[in-house]
Amino acid sequence: MSTVMPLPAFAAAVLLVVATALTAFGLRRTRPPGWGWWIAAPWLSAAGAAAAALPPLDRLAPALLLAWPVLALVGLRRFQPRQVLPGSEHRDAAVLAAATGIALLGVAWGGAAGAALVAGAALACHLYAALLLFLGPGGRDATPVLGLGATMALVAFAPGIASLVAGSFAAPPLPAAATAALGNLVFAIVAITLVCERTERQLRDSRRRLRALANLDTLTEVPNRRHFDELASQALRHDPPGSAVLLMFDIDHFKLINDHLGHAAGDRTLRVVAAAVLEELRAQDIVGRHGGDEFTLLLRRLATADAIAAAGRIAAAVARRACAQQLPTLSLSFGLVQVAAGESVEAALRRADQALYEAKRQGRARAVAAHGDEEQPVFVESRRLDLTPC
Ligand code: GH3
Ligand code: MG
Repeated sequence: MSTVMPLPAFAAAVLLVVATALTAFGLRRTRPPGWGWWIAAPWLSAAGAAAAALPPLDRLAPALLLAWPVLALVGLRRFQPRQVLPGSEHRDAAVLAAATGIALLGVAWGGAAGAALVAGAALACHLYAALLLFLGPGGRDATPVLGLGATMALVAFAPGIASLVAGSFAAPPLPAAATAALGNLVFAIVAITLVCERTERQLRDSRRRLRALANLDTLTEVPNRRHFDELASQALRHDPPGSAVLLMFDIDHFKLINDHLGHAAGDRTLRVVAAAVLEELRAQDIVGRHGGDEFTLLLRRLATADAIAAAGRIAAAVARRACAQQLPTLSLSFGLVQVAAGESVEAALRRADQALYEAKRQGRARAVAAHGDEEQPVFVESRRLDLTPC
């Protein structure tokens, strides 16, 4: 007596392992949309293979074994709702229902004609799903999806290929349970790959969002004080010593906007200022919100005179945008210093703050450049930044 396990029983065992593994994988995480359909595919195939191994039930096997490609397709439609696959779930359901009916009819009919009906129904189901996967956009998940489509097509033609390899079409065709086991195995790997890739993408996105939250000022979306310090220190380490100008500027009489127009208008003003600064900066320059209505800038590889000109352009851009937003005429006061070789951002900021204080003292709406050290600053240049009325 032969002790070798029959192929359908072996396929049923493989499918049982695949179905259990996929179910267990889904239980350990937040299940994505369409997961239920994906779980149904191997369980139904396992039931089909088991039925094929148990003669009283084997008449049901073909109808159960042909379903998995369409179930996988419906699951994919729900998993990637934005990457629209051709057709619709209704059409998928209609194809599956028709193929199941034809397969059951073929089994009932029996003989060569019945076998042809069963084979035709299974072929139609596999090729229908494969074709839609090939025609779909695929998007970021294109490779695994196309791999799944190729597997479905391969499984559809597997009995024919097996006969070709055997050299005779008279040879018994590969049992549908075996091809379903192979197909579901690949499908489970694809499903797990898609879910893992999506989880990884979501993790990357939330890490990026967290980093932005930690580094950017939430109101103006420019770097906050700590992040500006980091970016500016990094730039100073990289650039030739003494080649950067550090500016600190403050909105003149900003409190009046809060007092007369309300805090929301004050917030809007701060956003307008940040947007105008970003518009004027070169790609290599760095901006930050120091706090309140104070901003900081590091203009790289620039002489003080050019930095004063840049301050004038920023003040004009702010005034322009404020007019466009129906805000009162805005003016800015700037303090700026050429960063000395080896000087820290913090030390340069203290000197720029002294120059800013001097600009306020001299009547506001101006840029003042400070030279010398912190104990004995020399305010060498002071330029009025003319107001441009709306
Ligand atoms: P000066 O010309 O001397 O700079 O006068 P000022 O009125 O602008 O005075 P100051 O710079 O000291 O005012 C800063 C004000 O900014 C005080 C505070 O109420 C307000 N402020 C700070 N942070 C925010 C904010 O996030 N939103 C709004 N709307 N106001 C803020
Ligand atoms: Mg101010």
